[in-house]
Amino acid sequence: MKAVRIHEFGGPEVLRYEDVPDPKPRNDQVLIRVRACALNHLDIWVRKGLPGVSLPHTLGSDIAGEIVEAGEYVSGFKLGQRVLLAPMHFCNHCAKCVAGLQNQCPEFTVLGNRVDGGNCELIAVPTVNVIAIPDSLDFNQAASVPLVFLTAWHMLVGRAGIRTGQTVLVLGASSGVGIAAIQIAKLFHARVITTAGDEKKLEKAYALGADHGINHYKHKISEEVKKITNKDGVDIVIEHVGAATWEESIKSLKPAGTLVTCGATTGPNVGLELRFVYSRQLSILGSYMGTMGELHEVLAHIFAGRLRAVVDRTFPLQDIRAAHEHMEKSQMFGKIVLNP
Ligand SMILES: [Zn+2]
Repeated sequence: MKAVRIHEFGGPEVLRYEDVPDPKPRNDQVLIRVRACALNHLDIWVRKGLPGVSLPHTLGSDIAGEIVEAGEYVSGFKLGQRVLLAPMHFCNHCAKCVAGLQNQCPEFTVLGNRVDGGNCELIAVPTVNVIAIPDSLDFNQAASVPLVFLTAWHMLVGRAGIRTGQTVLVLGASSGVGIAAIQIAKLFHARVITTAGDEKKLEKAYALGADHGINHYKHKISEEVKKITNKDGVDIVIEHVGAATWEESIKSLKPAGTLVTCGATTGPNVGLELRFVYSRQLSILGSYMGTMGELHEVLAHIFAGRLRAVVDRTFPLQDIRAAHEHMEKSQMFGKIVLNP
């Protein structure tokens, strides 16, 4: 089969479209013909070099396709079935896994990070990862859902415990997590404030349900939040930007507010004013992916049409270098999807 592998870490030039042997499913696995694989910022981090990634390596976390072969022990699936894959690897037998807390498993990792991913034509996976999709969802949409919607659901519901009618600040409206978090917060009838770098992106955020938009190049986020909320601040901040926005995010919280973070796109080191944290009784929570239970929960909303994937652009898999360059320019609104 064809696959894109990296043999060294670096820029888009290290992505090599090449022939590799077809994977063979184990008795408890199915073989998926990959029809779509969406990009995430993780692809760029792994391409540049993360610990624990052995070379050569295949990137790609968000996969949709069809079942083309099933191992001897597999039941409940049929050949030709359209599916998406849970974008994670876990042992499925430790105390955390059997308790349904897969993202706390010692073996837990994201597909395409430390284990090979979906930038290829065929992938063999355990059936626990395989989830049937309705006809209403095309492969590009299906591949655009799992990682970011699971991440945003775990942040808002699992970690921050969002309640109906709260006020939520979602950073980065055009990012995958931003697009998911805006919609999930609206499911809970939240008042949503979001940020973006230009008016066009803010217009698209309003179309997803955002109530207020802040152009972060023109305005200080916390000052605008104070104006919008009549000096109250927000109950929850959805952070994934990191160093560039951290201080503004903390300042935007109301007393006893919750900041939940899942990423650090602009850098991982930030300052923290401890007197501000304890006197205002702030909660600062980390969040990483989510559980299989949460994935099924958020997918039910996707399948019913209450939440929707946003596809920015598709590229043939062999043009993956152009897809990475497009992502690194940050001009997109929604997911970039590769088609093998
Ligand atoms: Zn486990």
